[in-house]
Amino acid sequence: MNDAPSPPARVVSALRRRLLAWYGRHARDLPWRGSRDPYAIWVSEIMLQQTRIDQGTPYFERFMAAFPTVFDLAAAPEDRVLKLWEGLGYYARARNLHRAAKGIAGERAGRFPDTAAGWRKVPGVGRYTAGAIASIAFGERAAVLDGNVIRVLTRLFDIRACADDAATRRDLWGLAERLVPVKRPGDFNQAMMELGACVCTPKAPQCAACPARALCRAHALGVEAERPVRRAKAAVPHQEAVAAAIRKNGRYLLGKRPGGGLLGGLWELPGGTVGPGESHAGALERILRDELGMAVRVGGLVASIDHAYSHFTVTVHVYRCAHMGGTPSPKTHTELRWTLPGEFGRFAFPKANLKVLPLL
Ligand code: SF4
Repeated sequence: MNDAPSPPARVVSALRRRLLAWYGRHARDLPWRGSRDPYAIWVSEIMLQQTRIDQGTPYFERFMAAFPTVFDLAAAPEDRVLKLWEGLGYYARARNLHRAAKGIAGERAGRFPDTAAGWRKVPGVGRYTAGAIASIAFGERAAVLDGNVIRVLTRLFDIRACADDAATRRDLWGLAERLVPVKRPGDFNQAMMELGACVCTPKAPQCAACPARALCRAHALGVEAERPVRRAKAAVPHQEAVAAAIRKNGRYLLGKRPGGGLLGGLWELPGGTVGPGESHAGALERILRDELGMAVRVGGLVASIDHAYSHFTVTVHVYRCAHMGGTPSPKTHTELRWTLPGEFGRFAFPKANLKVLPLL
């Protein structure tokens, strides 16, 4: 970033003063705000990655009611943790949180790291999350840089370099670190994020209500809508997939996905991706034969569900199927279970399945 700003001390102190005063008056009342409990702050930060606050808040409240301490979380079965995460997406977050809770409750006897460097060693905690927890819970002068902060900084200092480039990102971290004050670093970081979420929004920022307006170079130049500069997005690929609602004696066959990958540890109606030139019925027969060792007759379509993941979109076509032969045995799943519809509520499912299960 060859136009990396090095703001003078008077700008830095004016920005800190204005943001902290504004935050004191306008901070939203959120259930984890005001807490210095590292466990609550850690859960909230992990839960709110890639998730809107209005969507994440009820999940946070349910999660904390179920697991009020790191010991409760560590002792819980993974299925229960995933059930409380069901619908939030990015399930690796929940699995890492659970794994890390076991480490903290066990090897560390419940003692949390108290520095950003210590938090970086916790599974699922990156530089942003470590800075957020260390500054909010422990008052460390550690910076945060997420999408909101990037937008605020590139506008405030009219940074024209592409915000997706590694060199720019490094310089933005440096800038964020220079701005964090020794006193109230956690409040300052939250103020930056809050400003990005509520005032300095991606579209139509409310500059007239912004506490930093007098310091903002992009606003003075009228180029706030052009910051941050981002790399053009690649087209998102689309997949066609099929899934089978196989019923026997009133029960449906469910499979549990292996722990590590996409949607790991969640339960689903078995299925997979439709190959090029393949019919839906042909794909289902092939997948169930190869992956479960069973023969089926494909019946009527229950529903076609569209779903968007971060790197691709998918349409899942769910068909009723009759079991014609073979004892299902898991090859790509870790477990298979014939399940009554009344028991579905005990399992954590991906969103696409959640939309179709009530139709069965
Ligand atoms: S003045 Fe406008 S563009 Fe600048 S930081 Fe405030 S809201 Fe963002």
